[in-house]
Amino acid sequence: MLMIKTYPDEFLTRVLPECTDSVSQDIVDMMMDVAYESECLGLAANQLGVPHRIIVVLKRLMVNPVILKTSKSVISVEEGCFSLPGETHKVLRHEVIIVEWQTPDLKETKRQGWVRELAFIAQHEIDHLNGILINDEV
Ligand SMILES: [Zn+2]
Repeated sequence: MLMIKTYPDEFLTRVLPECTDSVSQDIVDMMMDVAYESECLGLAANQLGVPHRIIVVLKRLMVNPVILKTSKSVISVEEGCFSLPGETHKVLRHEVIIVEWQTPDLKETKRQGWVRELAFIAQHEIDHLNGILINDEV
């Protein structure tokens, strides 16, 4: 299995910049392979040392993901993270989000409303892109 960076690797606390060029097929394949091999629900570029805003959420690769809107209702969720082996932390997550992202060629923008599990994973992974881990949010 490819190496997933673990805390306190400095890459995990970096705020990653947007992708302004199309994402290479090598990076797409590498991220999807790791997501598949590790059977993780989500993955963020920081965890692999890829220096751009890319995440995988349940096998969807999302470039430059942005949360446009969140529900007022929040839920306390117990989460784990491949970068914090053996740990779980309770974090507050919005129950519903509207998320927008681009395809790897940056030619298409998608927007969807996600509820609960999908919304929680997307929030976890977008936190990674902002250098935030679940052990930061108390
Ligand atoms: Zn994580």
